[in-house]
Amino acid sequence: MEKDLHFETKLIHSSEKHEDPYRSLVPPLYQTSTFAFENAAQGEARFSGADEGPVYTRLSNPTVEMLEKKLANLEGGEAALAFSSGMGAVSSVLLSLVNQNQHILCSKGVYGCTYGLLQMLKEKFAISHTFSGMNSSMEIESAILPETACIYIETPINPTMELIDLELAAKIGKKHGIPVIVDNTFCSPYLQQPLLLNCDIVIHSATKYISGHGDVIAGIAVGKIDYLNEVAMTVRKDIGSVLSPFDAWLLLRGLKTLAVRMDRHCETAEKLAVKLENHPVISSVSYPFLRSFPQYDLAVKQMKKGGGLITITVKGGKEEAQKVMDALKLVKIAVSLGDAETLIQHPATMTHSVIDEKERIKMGITDNMLRLSVGLEAEEDIWEDLSRALRSI
Ligand SMILES: *Cc1c(COP(=O)(O)O)cnc(C)c1O
Repeated sequence: MEKDLHFETKLIHSSEKHEDPYRSLVPPLYQTSTFAFENAAQGEARFSGADEGPVYTRLSNPTVEMLEKKLANLEGGEAALAFSSGMGAVSSVLLSLVNQNQHILCSKGVYGCTYGLLQMLKEKFAISHTFSGMNSSMEIESAILPETACIYIETPINPTMELIDLELAAKIGKKHGIPVIVDNTFCSPYLQQPLLLNCDIVIHSATKYISGHGDVIAGIAVGKIDYLNEVAMTVRKDIGSVLSPFDAWLLLRGLKTLAVRMDRHCETAEKLAVKLENHPVISSVSYPFLRSFPQYDLAVKQMKKGGGLITITVKGGKEEAQKVMDALKLVKIAVSLGDAETLIQHPATMTHSVIDEKERIKMGITDNMLRLSVGLEAEEDIWEDLSRALRSI
C-alpha cells in the first residue's frame, strides 16, 4: 500500500507503525542504551539472530529504525542506515566498500571533509583517488582503473553547483561492475532520487534539509540490503558511528515538512537567483534552474526543482566577498545549509579551506565566491538585506 502513496504522504505516514499501548500519534522515543531480555534463551536468540528484536542501541534501536525505514522508502531503496553525522555515513560506507590499495573515482569536487577523508585513506591505507569531470562516457571510462572499487559523486557539486549525469554514471558503473555512491545532501530525496536512476548507494548529511531546523548532526545511507548489512555489521557497529535515538526522533519530526520546506526554499532561491543575475556587482550566478546555467537541460532532467543553494561570484576578490558578508544583517554568516535561516559562507576560507590552493582553484572555487543557503524567510526581506550588502562594494 505504501508504494502507491505520494511522496508528501510518505513523509508523514511511512514507517510510523509502532506498538505503543497508548496509540501515541508521534513515534515513541526509545531513549535507551540497552534492552532487557525476557529470559536467557531470548538473549541467546537475539545474539544468534534467530530473534530479530533489539539488543543494544549501537546495533539497532526502534526509533532509529523507524527513521531508517522511512528514508529507505523516500529514496526508493531496500534499506537505510542512520549515522552520527554525514561524515559518519561517508566514512563508514567508504571503509566498508573499499580495501587497501584500491581506488575511488570521484566527481571533480567533493565536500571539504570528504576531501580530507580521501587524503587520510591515501596516507594510511594506500587507497588512491582521482577527480574527474565525468562529462561524458569516455571521460568516466578513461578514469576507471583495474583497482577502482567505487565511483563517488556529488551533484550538484558543492559549492560550484556543477552537475553530474547520474543516469550516465550508473550505466557505466553497471557495465564495469563498480558501485556508484551519490552524496544527495544538496537535493534531499524530494528533489533527486539517484537510486531510481540506477545508482547504488545514496548518502545524506541529514544535518541539512532532512533535519531542516539546524538542531541535529546526522547522516544517512540508503541502498541495497546486502551493501548496507555489511556496513551495519562491520564498520558502523565496530567504529560506532551510530545515531542517537533522540536525534533520530528529531529527524522524524523534521522530515514531515520536507516537501513544504523544499518547495519554499526552491521558490525563493529561484527568485533571488534571477535578481542576483541582474545585479551590477555580481559577475556570475550558479543556480541549476536558471536558464543561463550551462547544464540547465541536465538539471531539469534529473532534479525536480533547483534547490535552495545559490553560488555567486562578486566583482573583485576575497576582500569584496568578505565585505558583503560583513554588511549583512538578516542573513547569518555560517556554514551548513538547509536551515530555516538564510546562511552565507565563503568557501575559500571556510568549507573548502583545507584544500590546497592550487587544487581548490582547479575545482573552480575562487576567492570571490560566496555560497548562499536560502532559508524560509520572506523573499523580499532576504533580497532587501542582500541588495543592501552588495551596495557596500
Ligand atoms: C555537510 C555535508 C556533509 C557532511 O555532513 P555532516 O553531517 O556535517 O557530517 C557531507 N556532504 C555534503 C554535501 C554536506 O553538505
